Amino acid sequence: MAKIKKIYAYEIIDSRGYPTIEGRLILDNGVSVTTSIPSGTSIGKSEALELRDKDPTRFEGLGVTKAISYINDLLGPKLVGISPLKQEEIDLWLIKADGTKNKSKLGGNTLLTISQLIVKAAAADLKVHLFKYINSLYQSLFNTQISLERLPDPIFNIINGGKHANNNLEFQEFQVIPSSSYSFTEAYKIGIEVYHELQKVLAYRNANISVGEEGGFAPDFPTNLDAIEIINETIAQKNLKIGLDIFLGLDVAASHFYTDGKYHIKDKPHPMKVEEYMEFINKLVTSYSILVLEDPLNEDDWGEWIKFNQKIPKNIYLVGDDLLTTNRERLERAIREKACTTILIKPNQIGTITETLQVIDLARKNNFNYIVSHRSGETNDSFIADFAVAVQADFVKFGASARGERLAKYNRLWQIEREELKK
Ligand code: PEP
Ligand code: MG
Repeated sequence: MAKIKKIYAYEIIDSRGYPTIEGRLILDNGVSVTTSIPSGTSIGKSEALELRDKDPTRFEGLGVTKAISYINDLLGPKLVGISPLKQEEIDLWLIKADGTKNKSKLGGNTLLTISQLIVKAAAADLKVHLFKYINSLYQSLFNTQISLERLPDPIFNIINGGKHANNNLEFQEFQVIPSSSYSFTEAYKIGIEVYHELQKVLAYRNANISVGEEGGFAPDFPTNLDAIEIINETIAQKNLKIGLDIFLGLDVAASHFYTDGKYHIKDKPHPMKVEEYMEFINKLVTSYSILVLEDPLNEDDWGEWIKFNQKIPKNIYLVGDDLLTTNRERLERAIREKACTTILIKPNQIGTITETLQVIDLARKNNFNYIVSHRSGETNDSFIADFAVAVQADFVKFGASARGERLAKYNRLWQIEREELKK
């Protein structure tokens, strides 16, 4: 079995124009792999720390040379001669080397670079598809098999707002979700056609068709509801039946417009206290065909999440992203207190692949749904697409069906369906 010969990293620039880490691992049999690390713009308070240089003379302080020196000089050399099949041991060693609760010593981005490199190197050495290797890794870690049967259903983020765009919408993501009865190939086609139709509808209404961080359009509207109405109109133009062929989703990312104990959105002339706001959101999800609702409430208000989860229809996926941050303790609490039904999975929120798989295992054992997600700051690495297939996520969320860094992931899913998981 091959052993690690060298691990090193360097800076590359992500989809937002900021530095991030790309790492490379070379095995002693000559096999080599690379991986790069995404970065969030709307970050939950409990996420693993992303280590940045804070040196104002380079990239506005956002350089990652410190993280890179930890990989090149501290961690990488100690892994030389080790087998990449020892994922769990290596990840546990990384966690110990950091020693903090939120990876604040070495950085979640530092640890994840190595963790992902190890996964990729093992798959490349065994000459198996990445998704098949991650699937077998899950089985060896938890002694349970996830049968590889289907592609996760895609969630397309077609209008960007909140922290992801400089328009005036407070909600962060307005999404369309083709029915799960479609194959990935069909769902992808629908997502793309709806995206282009929306561009025409927006242009017809003299709205802005420039895009936000995740490739969705970023128009101004008098209210957030208007953005939803425009999507409904677009879907009707395509002769698709809302609630049958296609559904809507929202990442409200409410923590970012929650200040002084109130929710500030332009749909109401006054800031709303939680009771009024919850009523508003509840009415919204039942009047429109919302299937997936992410972070409708502030990330610290567990009590309100519990109340809201009791209130909204059971068929809606109530998703914790900023609330749960791919964190085992927070997911345990959500399960115990019934705070929501679904967790968003982002490996860089926690820092290693073993921990990410542990969170998924906990979700699966408790019939909690899970959605695998990209970050707003992305690279062309399609690791997360293979990861989502490997764990048979309910949905994936990779942004709009436009911009190269988003399409790297969707196109990889398409390839997997075409070549490997054809129904
Ligand atoms: C999200 O909030 O779900 C998201 C993908 O955005 P970011 O990466 O900015 O957290
Ligand atoms: Mg989110």
